[in-house]
Amino acid sequence: EGTRVSTGPSGNRLTVLSGPSGVGKSTVVAELRRAHPEVWLSVSVTTRKPRPGETHGVEYFFADGDEFDRLVAAGELLEWAEFAGNRYGTPRTPVVEKLAAGVPTLLEIDLQGARQVRATMPEALLVFLAPPSWEELEKRLRGRGTEPEDVIARRLAAGRVEMAAEQEFDLTLVNTSVDDVCHRLIALMADAPEASGPG
Ligand code: 5GP
Repeated sequence: EGTRVSTGPSGNRLTVLSGPSGVGKSTVVAELRRAHPEVWLSVSVTTRKPRPGETHGVEYFFADGDEFDRLVAAGELLEWAEFAGNRYGTPRTPVVEKLAAGVPTLLEIDLQGARQVRATMPEALLVFLAPPSWEELEKRLRGRGTEPEDVIARRLAAGRVEMAAEQEFDLTLVNTSVDDVCHRLIALMADAPEASGPG
């Protein structure tokens, strides 16, 4: 069957957490980082500028466009995507090494990236993080309400398209509480691959 890079010797496989923008993926990841150091979180490379409080090598590796081009050309990214004018990608080597070492491994990436992982690593477990309701996501996408109506309309339209991607995933976790999502995610990752499939 060829080389199965997404499954390590202990049977663990790559887990991908994705979902519409505004659903709260980064909050879940921050809590996992705090409460579950046994899970290895891939650190992405991005061309976005650091936000206050972000540290190079922790939330992201911050790179300029030339460096990102070099990584793409060298095949060093497992997947990458452009999101809101910036590029984001997953460094390949650390993921392969962690899986080979039997370390539970999680990627938090956008929907385009999740589709690429689906295509290149069919054994990966794709988890869709969903808002408790469309109204809740709409509220988050509208944010503080300071943006012009056409911008809000575009975000809402994009959000509806993103919600439709749920059907491409192995399973859905509803983000009713960060703690709850973390517990469920940890349980899924601890399961044997045979036991954590859909259904
Ligand atoms: P933010 O700029 O808010 O940190 O992230 C924006 C979006 O980029 C989020 O949806 C996040 O999941 C996604 N993202 C972060 N890292 C990666 C990556 O390595 N690959 C892909 N495809 N998306 C990523």
